[in-house]
Amino acid sequence: MLNISGIPIEVCKKDIKNMHLYVKPPNGNVTVSAPLSMSDEAIERFVRTKVSWIKKQIGKFDNQPRQSEREYVSGETLYVWGKQYYLHTEYGSKNSLVLFGDKAVLTVRRESTAEQRENFVREWYRVLLKAEIARLLPKWEKITGLKATNWQTKYMTTRWGTCNTKTGKIWLNLQLAKKTPECLEYVILHELIHLVEKSHNERFVSLMDKYMPMWREVKTTLNGQILDYME
Ligand SMILES: [Zn+2]
Repeated sequence: MLNISGIPIEVCKKDIKNMHLYVKPPNGNVTVSAPLSMSDEAIERFVRTKVSWIKKQIGKFDNQPRQSEREYVSGETLYVWGKQYYLHTEYGSKNSLVLFGDKAVLTVRRESTAEQRENFVREWYRVLLKAEIARLLPKWEKITGLKATNWQTKYMTTRWGTCNTKTGKIWLNLQLAKKTPECLEYVILHELIHLVEKSHNERFVSLMDKYMPMWREVKTTLNGQILDYME
């Protein structure tokens, strides 16, 4: 597994002559197949020359509506801030989602489709996430002295956050509301540092070390927690 510009890339060595790069539907997973004799460094160099192409392909998948695997019926589980809840679906005329102990009680119209339920749950996560960002972003801006010009939440399946270094705007993945709050703090800090350092170079790493000495552990936790499409 390679990680180039924050993109996980699966490497398959095969008995082939040339390297091939694939960005696969439906999720934009990236795979490179390479001849058995090819060194890891050479593979990495090749992939680095293709980063903008890869990002463009992944972007296409990001904007595609995805078929949900979930039905939002009782028995399924739901993660909120790193904690697992058992879904209990009830029927009513007004949508709601309420957490009780280890239960998540979802009230939806009986005839609603899985997609409508998903949209409701997704907007519910958005409200939670926005409230936490409104609290945590100023905290990290104060610590680092870096400031985003604007921020927004977005449902993404290939990355946790992104930032536009030209405009200073940050996007945070809605799915962060499923992970522990430290994960959100880590992604906020990561994107803030991108405002002054585009690549994940030594300077970037030393800034991460300075502000969040434990960031590697948090990153491992975050990447160990899979995004929606893999569940
Ligand atoms: Zn990054």
